[in-house]
Amino acid sequence: MSAAFVRVALDDRLPLTCSRGGTCCHGNRIALNPWELATLAAARGLTPTAFRERFTTEGCTVLRFDGPPDARGLAACSQYAASVGDTAGCVVHAARPLACRLYPLGRRQQGGDTTYMHLGKTFPCLAGCPAVATLPQRTVAAYLASQDVTAAEAAHDAYLEVMQHLADAALVLLIDSGLAATGDRLTLRRWRKLGEGDAALRQKTLGPTWLDRLTVPALDGSLPVAAFVAAHHEALQAAAQAELASLAEADAIREAAVLMMAMALHLGRALGAESAPLARHWIDTARAHGARE
Ligand code: SF4
Repeated sequence: MSAAFVRVALDDRLPLTCSRGGTCCHGNRIALNPWELATLAAARGLTPTAFRERFTTEGCTVLRFDGPPDARGLAACSQYAASVGDTAGCVVHAARPLACRLYPLGRRQQGGDTTYMHLGKTFPCLAGCPAVATLPQRTVAAYLASQDVTAAEAAHDAYLEVMQHLADAALVLLIDSGLAATGDRLTLRRWRKLGEGDAALRQKTLGPTWLDRLTVPALDGSLPVAAFVAAHHEALQAAAQAELASLAEADAIREAAVLMMAMALHLGRALGAESAPLARHWIDTARAHGARE
């Protein structure tokens, strides 16, 4: 059972810990969506671009973990300080990403259903954070309320929709343009390569301008989360409309379809999703509409 996800309900009682500097802050992988990046940047008094360059990796989709290692030799999160006041912990606690708020739980959104999960029966915090043993048993719902997850979950779910719209744009470029009907096979092959490839391949495909548009939109980080994501989505749609909507040559349309798929997959990584299954899903959708590989 240790390698399987266990579904947990909101009223389940689980021995959970806080996220103020236990095992969650060392040797972990914390995905960052654009709203989270802007929020963290504001908390550090930096521009999103400056925060991105200094504290993120994998094409701005993941927090850098390059701090001093803990006793297990696991590097600390770049936002973790060995000393904060009279204790150690996160220097951006109020602005921490959703993954940190949920830890040690995972969360999946599918068909309107939200599922919280835990990998295995033993919480890693129990071995690595002595304070946990004294924490009261809480329900999952109480834990989530204590972690103030509402805004972060709203951002995550809104960006999932943006991701799907970007993939839809890629599908429209391939199918509705007539490119697929010409017998084109290169587009789906490149989508597959993007899904199986790493962040560097996606970054190279996006180029600096589209990477900036995706990860550090020119928006006020203090906007309410729904307004921030909606404005970001509108800006992406406007840029795509201006640059990609009137393409006529097959090669140019293919490049645009690959670009939109790279955007969708890169945003997916920023939401913690695996690229390969996502790419396979959208390739299957395209094939069901006549595209070939
Ligand atoms: S952002 Fe804060 S809570 Fe999250 S891993 Fe980094 S130090 Fe820990």
